[in-house]
Amino acid sequence: MVKAVACGAAIRGFESPRSPSKIRTQDYLTFNFELTSLNKTFCNVLTKTIQEEKKTPTDSSIGSYWITTFGCQMNKADSERMAGTLEKMGYSKAIDEFKADLVLYNTCTIRDSAQQKVYSFLGKQIKRKHSLPNLKLVVAGCLAQQEGESLLRRVPELDLIMGPQHVNNLENLLERVDSGNQVVATEETFISEDITNARRDSSICGWVNIIYGCNERCSYCVVPSVRGKEQSRYPDAIRSEIQTLANNNYKEITLLGQNIDAYGRDLPGSTKEGRKKNTLTDLLYFIHDIDGIRRIRFSTSHPKYFSKRLIKACYELDKVCEHFHIPFQSGNDEILRLMARGYTIDKYKKIIENIRILMPNASITADAIVAFPGETENQYKDTLKLISDIGFDQVMTAAYSPRPNTPAAIWNNQIAESVKKERLKEINELVENTSRKRNQRYLNNIESVLIEGLNPKNTSQIMGRTRTNRLTFIEIPKNTEFKYEFGDEINVKINEARSFSLSGQICN
Ligand code: SF4
Repeated sequence: MVKAVACGAAIRGFESPRSPSKIRTQDYLTFNFELTSLNKTFCNVLTKTIQEEKKTPTDSSIGSYWITTFGCQMNKADSERMAGTLEKMGYSKAIDEFKADLVLYNTCTIRDSAQQKVYSFLGKQIKRKHSLPNLKLVVAGCLAQQEGESLLRRVPELDLIMGPQHVNNLENLLERVDSGNQVVATEETFISEDITNARRDSSICGWVNIIYGCNERCSYCVVPSVRGKEQSRYPDAIRSEIQTLANNNYKEITLLGQNIDAYGRDLPGSTKEGRKKNTLTDLLYFIHDIDGIRRIRFSTSHPKYFSKRLIKACYELDKVCEHFHIPFQSGNDEILRLMARGYTIDKYKKIIENIRILMPNASITADAIVAFPGETENQYKDTLKLISDIGFDQVMTAAYSPRPNTPAAIWNNQIAESVKKERLKEINELVENTSRKRNQRYLNNIESVLIEGLNPKNTSQIMGRTRTNRLTFIEIPKNTEFKYEFGDEINVKINEARSFSLSGQICN
């Protein structure tokens, strides 16, 4: 089902005509498309540009592409969809970033370091562009959304700047680039249904976006301002995408959303009991019977919405894997309040307790931020204590990084860089030790592992994941009749447990 098509809206953000072979860096400064009175002028200019400068497609307009993805799984899933669109348009995947005819950086802005990395990557491509004017440079994702037109001022060599909400409209936007325009597509819009055929990196495990954007207002987080308001896909469309994956022999799917537990609250309909009709829990029941799919995962969860009903569904539904990624961010209630997270540590602990009552061996992973503005030594120690108390399987840690347009960025109690570094180092050591200890529970167990491929670092091994999402390396037996295919689930006896992976041998 199509929610809305943003085709026309996608170019309203900003578009500047220019000669396809010569960059006119000042054109975009002429217009301000935020002003309604100028929209008409802009549309006229655009139409004229397209009519006059529309190029006949030639061999040189279709070439090879390269995508570098920064950041989270959502970005990786978006990159797969954009790669699918590019291949549908006739581009082929380049073998080298510096030989590609179109280079797309799908960016992240969750931390300043991620942002700086993009600029450094761009610098090298800009040099190429000066000698290869037909090279297309695209910046997509959260940095593109955050910076918009100002990115074009900083890097006038760019051809297309597009926010995450415009991923499904890439072909249309590139057509405008081919017509000799610089395009900025960053305005908030309804996301058109997922019509692209993703070029997926894995042929076994597929990501399926179920909700875009986020309505929370965590005081450190830039996501709501770059990914916009929540937009849930309709259950039928999600089921149909998963069915297509199953038809193509995919075995595992991961449902994705920035705040996946909020799925469905923007969809119509409620039950007799007065709750929303299409929640994440309902969706899990709805998609569970799709033949061929053996494992279902979902990420990322928010403790505020992680309900008992969801836990029960995960327990009841065989295909839903016993791995839960539930960021806690801080182990201190006052810091959680300042972060505007909307839960307490007691509530968080209760969720984990409820999961472990029904699924004692479930893997629990999380995200944590240290050195949030004003965080005292004792408040920081509360985070260390929570990690030890819960016994997480893994925690993704980060030192707080002030992000533009977020409340906490302008508070005057920022923590010194030296303290951030110390805290990060200490928490990482704790996480590594905790994970190693926690992983010992697998030793001598027989685990079901879904084979995803060869170990790229050691091709005498195959690798896959347990249901609890532990990466597992398995020696390929020599001189036996053992046959396997990628996508098989095999029983593996675990004989080595490290902090972040396991090793084992096949059980007959
Ligand atoms: Fe950011 Fe909070 Fe939304 Fe997560 S829930 S994406 S941290 S605003």
